Amino acid sequence: NQEIRLISRPKGMPREEDFQFVEVPIPEPREGEVLVRTLYLSVDPYMRGRMTERKSYIAPYRLNEVITGGIVGEVVRSKAEGIAKGDVVLGELGWRKYNVAKAKHLTKVSPHLAPASLALGVLGMPGLTAYFGLLDIGQPKAGETVVVSGAAGAVGMVAGQIAKIKGCRVVGIAGSDQKVQYLTQELGFDAAINYKTTKDIRADLKEACPNGVDIYFDNVGGEISDAVLTLINQGARIPICGQIALYNLEKPDLGPRIQTQLLINRALMKGFIVSDYKPRFKEGLTQLAEWVRTGKIKYTENIIEGFENTPKAFIGLFKGENVGKQLVKVADR
Ligand code: NDP
Repeated sequence: NQEIRLISRPKGMPREEDFQFVEVPIPEPREGEVLVRTLYLSVDPYMRGRMTERKSYIAPYRLNEVITGGIVGEVVRSKAEGIAKGDVVLGELGWRKYNVAKAKHLTKVSPHLAPASLALGVLGMPGLTAYFGLLDIGQPKAGETVVVSGAAGAVGMVAGQIAKIKGCRVVGIAGSDQKVQYLTQELGFDAAINYKTTKDIRADLKEACPNGVDIYFDNVGGEISDAVLTLINQGARIPICGQIALYNLEKPDLGPRIQTQLLINRALMKGFIVSDYKPRFKEGLTQLAEWVRTGKIKYTENIIEGFENTPKAFIGLFKGENVGKQLVKVADR
């Protein structure tokens, strides 16, 4: 068995040297526990926040301890009622090839869910984030214009597609021409902008949003958001989902002050954490599953093979290497 520990708190962009692979024994499950073999491991931007020592909605990772995150695995030994060998489960587990977990901390993944990795993406935490952030805070109405930043990522691509289902004009912002093409040609976005190559993002946005912006689903913050916020309409809603452009900054980035924009437009800006909606997860997953089944929501997974590539996959999130949900495939079923 192997596990990945955080051995230094990243300064700026995380580096492979911040992580260490350590050989550990395969643990033995006790009463009420199961042994889980990792199949897919999720790397997520929020983990960067946990690598820094500071107060947040979730405790920081501890140095020299295993990193934890979302994992889909197969039960290989069970000492718990209701979970059998061969079941596929989802849990918040260590970055390990094998974990022992209490059965009550795991969720069974439906055997009909193919591939099971979707429980970490469109039919899991990122999908739910898009669903509740857009629908509950964004309150989209047909005919409105929705801008999504980080649009070709796990959350962004679902948020944009739900906005399309609701009859909105949807404009995505992403970091490569390939992503722009994917959004407009495969996912049905009305327009998309490559923020890395545009000469004037505000001008491009203005052209893509001739009626202004009613909802801005913000995954990135920073200068991209500064530009979008100059174009909001009366009564705009701005779900603050993430601020990835700021996660690796050592000093706060003081952009233009936008409060006047909120004031004169009576706009709502609201941060949220997906776990706030836990009591409604079943509703969200049922709806998302139906949209996926009927082809109304498409998804892409960016899968890197091999446990040894986990740090690389994580760091890649901050370089925009992924289209869709970034996963590490650790083992076959
Ligand atoms: P993604 O799949 O979107 O991966 C991250 C993407 O962010 C990259 O592919 C990259 O795409 C983009 N990015 C990286 N650095 C920058 C930068 N400096 N400026 C602009 N874009 C950048 O990740 P997720 O979908 O999992 O997460 C998206 C956002 O949602 C994150 O901010 C995350 O923290 C947040 N989140 C919030 C949750 C909540 O409960 N509030 C839950 C889950 C996620 P590109 O090529 O376009 O640059």
